[in-house]
Amino acid sequence: MTGSYRTEVLISAEQIQARIAEIGKAIASQHTGKRLICIGVLKGSFMFLADLVRAIPLPELEVDFIGVSSYQGTESTGVVRITHDLARSVEGEDVLLVEDIVDTGLTVRYLLDNLATRHPRSLKVAALLEKPARARVAVPIDFKGFTIEDRFVVGYGLDHDGRLRNLPHVALLHR
Ligand code: 5GP
Repeated sequence: MTGSYRTEVLISAEQIQARIAEIGKAIASQHTGKRLICIGVLKGSFMFLADLVRAIPLPELEVDFIGVSSYQGTESTGVVRITHDLARSVEGEDVLLVEDIVDTGLTVRYLLDNLATRHPRSLKVAALLEKPARARVAVPIDFKGFTIEDRFVVGYGLDHDGRLRNLPHVALLHR
């Protein structure tokens, strides 16, 4: 039980951390000796981003955030709006977009198109979760944590009406 919600662990904190250690190593090995700008998509990716950057031992790693609003209730509207923009230019930089979950793919598609207009040197995507059954547009995920079924999940940054982001694991929400 989590307040008035019943949650069930889908991916444990230990499983998440073990996968992040692997992804971090893969990212670091592809960017040795380079600067890497990791861009977290607010708010859902804040926890994944925090753990992921600690697993990427690059001295020239930087962190920035981009805020989007695309989601009302549990259905994607397809309308994406930037609510908080990057603090720095990414022109000529190696950029890693860090997202919590790729559901329909519309948010990442929009962000990739938007960031491409800023002329980064390279642009890659890390996503903790992917729900392929819901994909409406194909998006490349260069570094993926887990593939999940078409279920609404919460925790580890993901919310239900603003709550449950603080769970250390990914959970199914039973309502
Ligand atoms: P997309 O644009 O790929 O449909 O959706 C991306 C956003 O929808 C995610 O960043 C996330 O905020 C939200 N989202 C998609 N699926 C879920 C889910 O199962 N649980 C929660 N809490 N948010 C989701």
